[in-house]
Amino acid sequence: MFPIHDIRKDFPILHREVNGKPLVYFDNAATSQTPQQVIDVIVDYYSNHNANIHRGVHTLSQEATDLYEQARQKIQNHFNAKHSHEIILTSGTTHGINLVANGFSELLTEGYEVIVSALEHHSNIVPWQMLCERTGAQLKVLPMLEDGTLDMVAYNKLLSERTKLVFVNHISNALGTINPIETIIAKAHEVGAAILVDGAQACPHLVPDVQALDVDFYVASAHKMCGPTGVGMLYGKESWLKQLPPYQGGGEMISEVTFEKTTYADLPHKFEAGTPNICGGIAFGAALDYMNAIGFENIAAYENELLNYGTEQLLQIDGLKIYGTSQQKTSVISFNLEGIHPYDIGTILDKMGIAVRTGHHCAQPIMDFYNIPGTVRASFAFYNTKAEIDALVEGVKKAKMMLS
Ligand SMILES: *Cc1c(COP(=O)(O)O)cnc(C)c1O
Repeated sequence: MFPIHDIRKDFPILHREVNGKPLVYFDNAATSQTPQQVIDVIVDYYSNHNANIHRGVHTLSQEATDLYEQARQKIQNHFNAKHSHEIILTSGTTHGINLVANGFSELLTEGYEVIVSALEHHSNIVPWQMLCERTGAQLKVLPMLEDGTLDMVAYNKLLSERTKLVFVNHISNALGTINPIETIIAKAHEVGAAILVDGAQACPHLVPDVQALDVDFYVASAHKMCGPTGVGMLYGKESWLKQLPPYQGGGEMISEVTFEKTTYADLPHKFEAGTPNICGGIAFGAALDYMNAIGFENIAAYENELLNYGTEQLLQIDGLKIYGTSQQKTSVISFNLEGIHPYDIGTILDKMGIAVRTGHHCAQPIMDFYNIPGTVRASFAFYNTKAEIDALVEGVKKAKMMLS
């Protein structure tokens, strides 16, 4: 049995009320909630160890440095990277993507192509558009199908020796589709292209093994997996990270500075200019500890139960349509009620203490594909319950009555 009762006790926020009703938090795909174990680490850091890292000889600085580097090793172990210096601590997924896109500016020219999937988050579209504008490379879109999966036949046709880079998310934040990244990575490599996988939405649900995947770059954000905002990680193969130029200049990323020439620090510091989010990095490590103690297999099995139950219950409502019906899917349900704007449903649900996301979910091209302004998105985490799903279903029924 999944220890849901004990798990919920770990999350103080789950016990507050919103608009006089118990909070039902179903916006986990936007950001997850933080367990007391991670909050304690944050409080302990600022209460006992706060100092700048990598520079001081004094005790606090050494403690902070040790804690920060231990966190990097936890992240390395979790993702099974070969070296800890292949883990770059970033401010989040968006930062990691921009770092890589910027690095490729010098490697791309006219005549080359970059493939981006139609299921992407804006943060995995815009940096590549900017990259293509700068370099003259062409942006190609890997199209999606009606059920919210990627068109793999079209992918095969798009790939050629001109393809330099492929970008795809592991799991779509708008629809929950789990993409077949093993195949996508292998095919990209067959034509000699590098590939970046956006794992922001996958890492809360499963554990990617970057060596087994043979992926070139993999990015994630701590705040979607029980950690704080403003911190994330970029995994890059050592050979790629050595090849790419630094992203930002500043302290920490240099080895020697004179006005004639600056030499850059070794990995990972070459990509970590300035004082990082030290406490955030340490708390990211604590979040991984927390989730690993529950076990990702247990988490996935329980969330799958929630997904199946939620899908069944919601589909009983007349006129409700779910977008994203892939067999391979995580606990995200994106839906609309016929003739009703998603924003209106979201507003009524909030009155009942139920937090969902409404809108295009930073994935406007997907909404254009379905020809809709947006959806209502309920995304479940391992600390949610079937009783909360019942509350959602009741809420949607009520919203339907009020609005139609
Ligand atoms: C949330 C999300 C992002 C952006 O993450 P940030 O933490 O805001 O940088 C990118 N891609 C996907 C798939 C996401 O779900």
